[in-house]
Amino acid sequence: MPTRIPGTVAAPQTEVVDLLTLDYSYAHLPDRFFARLEPTPVVAPRLIRLNEKLARQLGFDPGALATPDGLEILAGNRVPENGEPIAMAYAGHQFGNFVPQLGDGRAILLGEIIDRDGARRDIQLKGAGRTPYTRGGDGRAALGPVLREYIVSEAMAALGIPTTRALAAVTTGETVWRETPLPGAILARVASSHIRVGTFQFFAARGDVDAIRSLADHVIGRHYPQSVDAANRYRALLDSIIARQAGLVAKWMLVGFIHGVMNTDNMSIAGETIDYGPCAFMDVYHPAAVYSSIDTMGRYAFGNQPRIAQWNLARLAETFLPLLADDEDAAVKEAQAAIGMFFARFETAYATGFRRKLGLFQPHAGDLTLAQDLLDCMGRNSADFALTFRGLCDATVSSEGDVSLRSLFDDPSALDDWVERWRHRLAEEGGDANARRVAMRAANPLFIPRNHLVEEVISAAVNNGDFRPFETLLAVLSAPHEDQPEFGRHALAPRPEQIVQQTFCGT
Ligand code: AMP
Ligand code: MG
Repeated sequence: MPTRIPGTVAAPQTEVVDLLTLDYSYAHLPDRFFARLEPTPVVAPRLIRLNEKLARQLGFDPGALATPDGLEILAGNRVPENGEPIAMAYAGHQFGNFVPQLGDGRAILLGEIIDRDGARRDIQLKGAGRTPYTRGGDGRAALGPVLREYIVSEAMAALGIPTTRALAAVTTGETVWRETPLPGAILARVASSHIRVGTFQFFAARGDVDAIRSLADHVIGRHYPQSVDAANRYRALLDSIIARQAGLVAKWMLVGFIHGVMNTDNMSIAGETIDYGPCAFMDVYHPAAVYSSIDTMGRYAFGNQPRIAQWNLARLAETFLPLLADDEDAAVKEAQAAIGMFFARFETAYATGFRRKLGLFQPHAGDLTLAQDLLDCMGRNSADFALTFRGLCDATVSSEGDVSLRSLFDDPSALDDWVERWRHRLAEEGGDANARRVAMRAANPLFIPRNHLVEEVISAAVNNGDFRPFETLLAVLSAPHEDQPEFGRHALAPRPEQIVQQTFCGT
């Protein structure tokens, strides 16, 4: 088989390609990295939605993808003639417990495409049938979780947060059984790659150092090519993965996103948000907020996410030990030094982002304290996360906006001291208030995929076959920082009877 070196700097597609001309760098890694198999066909696929903009960015002709032939591919009923579809092997720590074999139990990697920017991207079908890694499951996905992943991942992309993308969603015409019979669906997902912390763990658990090295080399070529030039390329790789992950989690913390299942198999080596299960955007801020029905101990609570990311990366660093140095003690020192950098990197990204949210452009020593004091006050007063920050944008121009901002707090006067300190700090900065307001609005979204809206969309689709609310919500979330007065309802916090207490992965 030809060896192809994957790279992020390949020539971009200039001509329109179709889903039948994919690339297969991962499928050319050693056989023990995956299982070769085709998706299991479905009886009556129907297109719910094609992401035309993304399709074009990938170099596809959206018109061709939407034809019956295109639909057959998106549903897994047809694979490219010389295609090399695979299910990837991986392991992972699930809620702290190591499972040596997980793998794509219901996802099939169709192949890769070099997009218009020259970046290599995976095309995967999630819900495409059983695989050798399926264990107890049915290999399928239900419509609700597919719509949820479509909405939230596209919302994240619009917010500028690295994420896997949704290329298309189809219904299968088949029933899947969860607690009740549900319509089946398949998500065509796009990722920089689907390599996870758990992919390295899979080989580490088997003592397969050759595989770890091959995987690391693949990751360097594909995601971190600059590491090649470092004196210790694997240490440089580890540092880069840690830096990207720290930056990613900082972005989550700045928009109130709770991943919900930060198992090591759900952490992407490329630094993208991946595997949207029981995830949630917080309404009311609280550091201990947990929505996931399966996270009974609150391990993946909002405020725990940076610590958990570091824990996961420590598990990754352990798998790197044989690569970091010949001598074990030296390798451990390298790993510890890399992991030790996580919080500094996280704080830098978080502080930079938080300053933007508060309209501060020049870094001051007390900025993180100012930010934390606001969060503490929000937590004590059940303030809505997104609306509080959006309210601050107007409050920067005049104190007229203070009334609606204060009304978000159980005790409106609780915020007064903080606002005074903030205004004092803004006065020190100088600058034009209107320009600041514009900049702040770009850092403080008005529209987030609130749980009650997502539930509303899913319920209309699953119970009534009505996909219009899905389309509307997607359109609103594609411009999260704009006012869109005609969709004011979608900006509101849930009324008490609308509050969603728990989210389910529904797998
Ligand atoms: P997740 O919780 O979605 O990250 O999945 C954890 C593991 O369970 C992965 O190995 C999945 O492939 C597998 N899995 C989840 N749902 C199913 C399903 N319906 N059928 C087969 N495998 C599944
Ligand atoms: Mg997963």
